[in-house]
Amino acid sequence: MKNIFDTDKEIYNLVQEELNRQRTELNMIPSENYCSRAVLEAAGSVLMNKYSEGYPKKRYYQGNKFIDEVELIAIERAKKLFNAEHVNVQPLSGSPANMAVYFGLLNLGDKILGMNLSHGGHLTHGSKVNFSGKYYNFVEYGVEKETGLLDMDKIRKLAELEKPKLILSGYTAYPRQINFKEFHDISQSVNAISMVDMAHIAGLIAGGAHQSPFPFTDVVSSTTHKTLRGPRGAIILCKERFAKDIDKAVFPGLQGGPHENSIAAKAVAFNEAMKPEFKEYSHQIVRNAKALASKLMSENIKLVSDGTDTHLILIDLIKTLNKEGIGKEVAVALEDAGIITNANTIPFDPSTPFKPSGIRLGTPILTTRGMKESEMEIVGDYISKIIHNYSDIELRKRINEKVKELCNDFVYY
Ligand SMILES: *Cc1c(COP(=O)(O)O)cnc(C)c1O
Repeated sequence: MKNIFDTDKEIYNLVQEELNRQRTELNMIPSENYCSRAVLEAAGSVLMNKYSEGYPKKRYYQGNKFIDEVELIAIERAKKLFNAEHVNVQPLSGSPANMAVYFGLLNLGDKILGMNLSHGGHLTHGSKVNFSGKYYNFVEYGVEKETGLLDMDKIRKLAELEKPKLILSGYTAYPRQINFKEFHDISQSVNAISMVDMAHIAGLIAGGAHQSPFPFTDVVSSTTHKTLRGPRGAIILCKERFAKDIDKAVFPGLQGGPHENSIAAKAVAFNEAMKPEFKEYSHQIVRNAKALASKLMSENIKLVSDGTDTHLILIDLIKTLNKEGIGKEVAVALEDAGIITNANTIPFDPSTPFKPSGIRLGTPILTTRGMKESEMEIVGDYISKIIHNYSDIELRKRINEKVKELCNDFVYY
């Protein structure tokens, strides 16, 4: 950071402050991760300087000799990592990737079966304020009230009744395994395209800690910056017969020049994800989440679906504290204690999305830092103390001191 230090102290100082925050707080947002120095270097490299509209060997600008090699390597690695027939590594992020899938494979107004937002779906899965809900006809399925789980028989019946063009699975706040094979079978039986948005769990899938949607699913979108631990960005993976439509939708359909520095960083991350250490990492994420869930439940914290199979835990504050709409207050109390989570709706939340009744948290970053089940016991103890005493300002300060000590033992960067 020598050059920013010399030329722009204002930004230099803020980057240092953020680095210090990442070092000294327990970052438990389940969609975040701490990527490697190698990934950071690729993302901050001179590949940033190049325009490369088009695809490898078919560019609209000269000078792409080395860029082509980088992009081809990224594509080959992603194909190998996930066992996919075709990959597009150019999507700028998860939302644009989903937009490209719908734009490439559907007509405006076509019917899509997707998960209700407050049950764990993403904004791009049909929210009324999002392009997806405005331009496509989303029909929603959700989880069961008693169990917090998906009922595949109900989803099958809904698909038979509605006959959608595309059936979407893969979520942003669902703590359990998703049966991608069954989603694909249902899609086939009603002549729909099967789509999986594996943004949250791509790293678990790469490491074998969650059922893979490959090779059977028609089209899969994913971010690269969540459990996969790469740069901010996304990819689309699909069967060969959808390849042309997907590529045309990404460019020239929606995007201009790809961010080749990010594509290089994606390639570095895919290489890391193919290593045995990453397999171990992905399984440890889940072991940690399960250990944390057990500890929380033993302290009378109620979880949606009573546990987790993934990296993610959803706390039901209504069942825990008998109060609605206090997710934000509890998230702020946790933040004061150095534990970063987010307020989230829970299925059938009687409150509004602005005052949700749940807390969403996860273990990808703590696991990247090297924490194991025994640390999850400690962290679970801190979290449950704060939740049960969320107005106690002194307690927040005391726990914050302990959080800093714990972070000191698990150095990042
Ligand atoms: C995070 C996420 C996205 C969107 O990714 P952005 O990079 O934030 O646009 C899409 N779908 C799901 C399921 C996600 O969890």
